[in-house]
Amino acid sequence: MKKYFLFWAIISLLVMSSCAHLKQDYAAEKSEQQNAFSLNTPLPFDTTIIKGQLPNGLTYLIKQNAKPEKRLFLRLVVKIGSVVEEDNEQGIAHFCEHMAFNGTKHFKKQELIDFLESIGMRFGADLNAYTSFDQTVYMLEVPTDSLPLIRQAFQIVEDWAHNVLYDPQEIDRERGVVIEEWRRGRGAYQRVRDQFLPVLFKESRYAKRLPIGKKEILETFPHEVPLNFYKKWYRPELMAVIVVGDFDPQTLKDLTLEHFSNLQNPPNAPERVYYPVPPQNRTIFSLAKDPELPVAQIEIDYKRDPDTARVVADYRKSLMESMISQMLSKRLQEYTSRPNPPFNYAYSSMMRLVQTKEIFTIACAARSEDILSGYKTLLIESRRALEHGFTPSELERQKKSILSYLKKAFNERDKQNSKKLIEEYTRHVLYMESVPGIEKEFEIVKQILPGISLAEINQLTGELLQNPDRVIAVMGPDKEGVYFPTEDTLKTILAAVDTMKIAPYVDQKIAKQLVDKQITPGSVVKEINHSDIGVIEWRLSNGARILLKPTDFKNDEILMNGFSFGGYSLAPDSIYDSARFSSAIASASGLGKFNRIQLRKFLAGKVVRLNAGISKDTEEFNGSSSVKDFESLLQMVYLNFVSPRFDSTAFQSLIARQKSWLKNKELDPEAVYNDSLIVWLTQRHPRYLPVNEQTLSRIRLKPAADFYRQRFDNPGDFTFIFVGSFKPETIRPLLETYIGGIPGHEEREKWGSQDYTPPDQVVEKRLYKGVDPKSVNTIIFSGPFNWSFENVRKGLFMADILEIKLRERIREAESGTYSISVRGKFYHIPRQRYELLIRFSCDPKRVEELTADVFQQIDSLLQFGPQEKDLQKVREMYLKDYEEGLKQNGFWRSRLHYSLFHQIPFDHVLRMDDIYRSITLQDVHQMAKELLNKKRYLRAVLLPEKLN
Ligand SMILES: [Zn+2]
Repeated sequence: MKKYFLFWAIISLLVMSSCAHLKQDYAAEKSEQQNAFSLNTPLPFDTTIIKGQLPNGLTYLIKQNAKPEKRLFLRLVVKIGSVVEEDNEQGIAHFCEHMAFNGTKHFKKQELIDFLESIGMRFGADLNAYTSFDQTVYMLEVPTDSLPLIRQAFQIVEDWAHNVLYDPQEIDRERGVVIEEWRRGRGAYQRVRDQFLPVLFKESRYAKRLPIGKKEILETFPHEVPLNFYKKWYRPELMAVIVVGDFDPQTLKDLTLEHFSNLQNPPNAPERVYYPVPPQNRTIFSLAKDPELPVAQIEIDYKRDPDTARVVADYRKSLMESMISQMLSKRLQEYTSRPNPPFNYAYSSMMRLVQTKEIFTIACAARSEDILSGYKTLLIESRRALEHGFTPSELERQKKSILSYLKKAFNERDKQNSKKLIEEYTRHVLYMESVPGIEKEFEIVKQILPGISLAEINQLTGELLQNPDRVIAVMGPDKEGVYFPTEDTLKTILAAVDTMKIAPYVDQKIAKQLVDKQITPGSVVKEINHSDIGVIEWRLSNGARILLKPTDFKNDEILMNGFSFGGYSLAPDSIYDSARFSSAIASASGLGKFNRIQLRKFLAGKVVRLNAGISKDTEEFNGSSSVKDFESLLQMVYLNFVSPRFDSTAFQSLIARQKSWLKNKELDPEAVYNDSLIVWLTQRHPRYLPVNEQTLSRIRLKPAADFYRQRFDNPGDFTFIFVGSFKPETIRPLLETYIGGIPGHEEREKWGSQDYTPPDQVVEKRLYKGVDPKSVNTIIFSGPFNWSFENVRKGLFMADILEIKLRERIREAESGTYSISVRGKFYHIPRQRYELLIRFSCDPKRVEELTADVFQQIDSLLQFGPQEKDLQKVREMYLKDYEEGLKQNGFWRSRLHYSLFHQIPFDHVLRMDDIYRSITLQDVHQMAKELLNKKRYLRAVLLPEKLN
């Protein structure tokens, strides 16, 4: 059930309506089910799930679920991971995961890949599977068009469970791929993590069992090692099969029994031990610095044994814990609005990194030039919470957030996504997380939430923060002139904060309404019905254009976009940097009468989110809300036009944080490489130079504010798109008020004409930076492009086909890289041109050899054109995405936006499948000839400083 909590960490603007309404809800629903759950009631298990266990010990969970339509999701969960490896097997659990895609009894290597790609899945071990300390999980998604297809999917999952081949030749090939994966993970973050984890997991086997393993072992293990590991640990008693999707559950159960009943546990298999992390019951420090680490990080981790939620009281406790970490996070985040913030970002959360421990974390991305301020602030806020607890108003807001979030999930109960459900069931299998179903969970929360008192919360806060099993970790740059603390300094500050006098938190009062002035509404002056795509278009009296697409894809979701041409392409050079940062400053400042923190508090209890931003060619809104909070969404749009906020405190704070991020950026080899790539590609066009400290010092508040107001001064220049659960007539008065009521006129702007020009010949660049034996390679083809919707699709097809060919050659045949990607970008505005980018990382010693291989594949595509088989795979991928997209609000919002941005007819959205089907081998071949022009490309290579 914890999934809802995890979300809170990500979505900051959550939550609900007026208190009165809320209490009414409580009262009405409470009386219906008085005392439905007492604290020792066992947590219910969702009765719509078919759950069982085969005689061989394998667990299965099957659930019929309608969304997405015609899709079935299957998972094999194996409850073992790197922690069960012996010393000479480090990395083998993960290696076994890779081997599942290199040949099984019923599917030879190429057949398995071909099958997955032929049904529109993107292939790759790690794309369809993962390995961690305690588990290895395999994932499959298939269309439910035919029973034979579903049977094949079950056969694959069965093969993964006990029929992987481990052909010696394939083992040696995959060895190279996994070593490249190891190589890709090298760097400063890995080095400081490798110092931190042994402290966090002190005296535990986890400290020595990172899933990626050891390079020496991966290079040299004998062929029988992975096969022996597989035979020993892949056994039905340690497995679960989970099947969720749009299909008859009885058939799915029959197929499960048919495919998994015959699996046998090996005799004399070792016990699956759940290795403890022994408590240290004191504070241990972990200090790690690195010459390539550009930022500083501080963590205070409290370790404790995980709770298993068995009865309502357990659930209640975990709910309270998540409330505490959320409230603490919010207090910490308030610091990031100060003119001189002690850190760039901070949060608190409850995490489960390994099976046997939960970790309550308080952490920050510190300012590397002032690590101690970040450290001290985390300690002070912990102490403040410990000593004084939280305030009644903070708790009230947190309760509202939880209720509104669950209420929305409840409203969507018949439209839950199978992908989310299968994640939840996986956690049930692994961690015994309870699965009551959203109806029951909402009922339980409605019942227990009002009774959670501040005293209880504060008591539990004390327990969490007084847990003696604590690790304090500081990671930062190792650079001359940058201060890095010693353990003694950290201890001294810790002791000093413990005796400091700390005042209680004061929750300042905020305004009661977003908009408190009377607005004179405009009106709809024209209506156009685009009935072919189910869109109604209104023109308002101030010129604003509105596109409405009511749908029933969700029950309680409205998505919006607002859009006009212009962007910072219209800013004169003299204020360019201020213009480019103007939307970041506005967003840091808040809106109307509310600063950012006040706005967040005001929105607690509402399900609404709005971002306003200025990009190169447009100014845009992107937002969403529940049905109930739609008015708040529109009010925020309104305020963004009539009273955007620019305050100097928020401005100073933003610039200080940005400066701090950039300060040590030059220590990170890949960041320097990526910046260099932009400089080379744009040929130093002044408007495209990467942001640096000089850029920041040129930014001024007033020109930024003026520019922003200019960009958002006329709703008549905007088109607003709304997609989701509404009736046009119902929301009409709101639109007439909050959009129609903004003064405006029918003048439409265009975009500016500045654009960079990539080199028009072959340019080769090398950057020598970094200590790790790894190299990053980028090849960018570019040139003019005849932009049309069809041509862009052909270009995308060509890029994807090339990617398949390169993967087969560079990864599968040469074992030269972990992954290689090909991306096409097709610009329309201000000029029609394209860029095609190929990227991979590899052993520095193999750069020239593998690059030659890349060009050989390109030559082959140019000479012979693509193969039918590959064209079909790519087409299937696009058709599958399209079929799913047609039933999603987000897809429609982005298609309508695309129509407006590229000025193509709306009905392109109805023809996309026809276009995909009509693309021929000749089209792709022709596109390859146009785009893969070997006379003009940029090739840039990152190499280590010392080649050996
Ligand atoms: Zn992998």
